[in-house]
Amino acid sequence: MIHEAREALKRVYGYDTFRKGQEEIISGILDGRDTLAILPTGGGKSICYQIPSMLLPGTTLVVSPLISLMKDQVDALRRVGVPAAFLNSSLGAAEYRDVVRGALQGEYKLLYVAPERLDAPMFQSLSEQLAIPLIAIDEAHCVSQWGHDFRPSYRQLAGWIARMANRPLVAAFTATATNEVARDITEMLKLREPNVFVTGFARPNLSLSVVTGVDKKRFLEKFVTERKEQSGIVYAATRKEVENVHELLAGRGVQAGKYHGGLSDAERAETQEKFRFDEIRVMVATNAFGMGIDKPNVRYVLHWQMTGDIESYYQEAGRAGRDGEESECVLLFEPADMQVQRFLIEQGTGDADRKAIQLSKLHMMMNFSRTQRCLQQFIVDYFGETGVAPCGKCSSCLDKSEPVNRTDEAKMALSCVGRMKGRFGVTMVAKVLKGSRDKRLLEFGLDRLSTYGLMRHLPEKEIADWLYWLVAEGYLRLSEGQYPVVSLTASALPVLEGRETIMQRVRATVRQSASADH
Ligand code: ADP
Ligand code: ZN
Repeated sequence: MIHEAREALKRVYGYDTFRKGQEEIISGILDGRDTLAILPTGGGKSICYQIPSMLLPGTTLVVSPLISLMKDQVDALRRVGVPAAFLNSSLGAAEYRDVVRGALQGEYKLLYVAPERLDAPMFQSLSEQLAIPLIAIDEAHCVSQWGHDFRPSYRQLAGWIARMANRPLVAAFTATATNEVARDITEMLKLREPNVFVTGFARPNLSLSVVTGVDKKRFLEKFVTERKEQSGIVYAATRKEVENVHELLAGRGVQAGKYHGGLSDAERAETQEKFRFDEIRVMVATNAFGMGIDKPNVRYVLHWQMTGDIESYYQEAGRAGRDGEESECVLLFEPADMQVQRFLIEQGTGDADRKAIQLSKLHMMMNFSRTQRCLQQFIVDYFGETGVAPCGKCSSCLDKSEPVNRTDEAKMALSCVGRMKGRFGVTMVAKVLKGSRDKRLLEFGLDRLSTYGLMRHLPEKEIADWLYWLVAEGYLRLSEGQYPVVSLTASALPVLEGRETIMQRVRATVRQSASADH
C-alpha cells in the first residue's frame, strides 16, 4: 500500500518524497496500527492522516480544535478532488444539517469535527451509520492534563471512542508532548500498542544560545543595532517589560514596534502589518505576538527573559528562520527571572495541580538555561526524540572554555543537601554552607551540621548559583510547589563516594556570535 501512498503524495500534493516520519506513520496506519505521532508544527502532520483516508474505505474522522485551519484544509482537499467537509461552530444551522446529512450518506472521505461539536447523540449516529476506518486526533495533547492546553471535550471524546462497538483505528497527532504527555495520551485515548513516532524537532538552521551574567540592556542595544537590516523579535515576559525594552530601543534610535495584550486591536494589527512588510524591523512583544504570524525571514528571536516552559520557548524561538536560512535564537538568562515566572504562575488561574505542573515545567526551563549540554539536543530530548547529534553551533557546543574540576565543591554541597534531608530550599542550604547567622537557620539548629560554613569563602549568591547548577546537571532535584525543597538524586551518590569527578566550564566571557564583547 505504501506505493499507493507515494503515488497519492505525488498526485494529490505534488511532492516527490515523504518527510522524515511521514512514510513510517502512514504505513503503520495502513497496516492497521494505532499511532501516536509527535511532529513539530509545520512537520507535515496532515498528510499522515489524509493519505490513509484516501486509501481506506469509508470516512475518516478528523478531530481538531483549530476551526480556522479546518476550512483551509477542506478547501485544499476539495480543490484536488478529495471529498471532505467540516463541522464546527462557524457553520449556520442549515449548512450544518447539510453536512451531517452528507456525512451520514457517506459522501466524504474526510470529515473534520471540532470536539465541542461532537455531542453524544451526533457521535452516536455517526459511529453507528458510518464506516469509519480511522479517527485522526489532531492536537492530541489536549486530552492530557499534563499538556499545556487541556480540554474536557477531548476527555469525552476518548470515552466515546472506547465505547464504540466497532472501534476504528486511532491515530493521535501533536506537536508538543513530553514523555509524560505522550504516556498520558496513550492511556487516555486507550491506544492499542501504538506505533509511536517522535521526530523532526531539530532545527538545524537555528543557532541557540543562552547568555548569562551580562548587562542585559547594553547587550540588547548592541545586538539589535548590529542587526539593523534584519527582522527580529524580542520577547519579554510582561507588558511592562515590553514597554521598557521598547523605550530602551527607541532611545537608541531603533525603530521598533511593540505588541502586547494591553494595546488596542487596531494598534496591534497595524504594528503586525508593518512588521510583516518590513516597515519596521524589530518587534518587541509578549507571547501574545506570534500566533498565526508566519513571517519567513525572521533572522533572530531574542528572549529578554526566560519563558515559563520549554514548549513556549521553542515555539517562540522557532519563529526565527522559517525560510530555512541561518538564524539566531538568544536567551538572556538571569536566575532572578525565575521569580518573575514563578509569580506569573502563582497569580495565574490554574488550580493547585495545574500550578504544580507549571512549576515543574519552569524548573526544566531553568535547567535548560543552565545546562552545558548541546542546547538543541536538550530540547529535542525534552520532546522525546532520541539520536540527534550535537548541533555544533549552540552556545554550549561552541563553549571552548576550559572545564574546571569542581568535585570538592560538589561534594560539599551535595553532602550538605543530604544532611538537610530534603526539608529546605536552595536559599537555606546556601546559608548553611555559607555559615550564616540567619535566625531561622539557628532556630532549626542547622549550625550544628558538620557542613555548616564549609563554603564560607564564597558569597552566598554564588553558593546558591552553584546549587542551581547542580540541579541543572541532574545531581540535585527541586520539588514542586510554592516553596521548592532541594534533595539528592541517584546521580549524587557516585560523586559523594568519590567515583565521579565533576567538571564545570567557567564562562569568563559570554559566548555569543560577534556581539558579546563589550
Ligand atoms: P503540521 O500540521 O504538522 O503543522 P502541515 O501538515 O500543515 O504541518 O504541513 C506543513 C507544510 O509542509 C504544508 O505546506 C505541507 O504541504 C508541507 N508538506 C508536508 N509534507 C510534505 C512533503 N512530504 N514534502 C514537501 N512538503 C510537505
Ligand atoms: Zn549544540
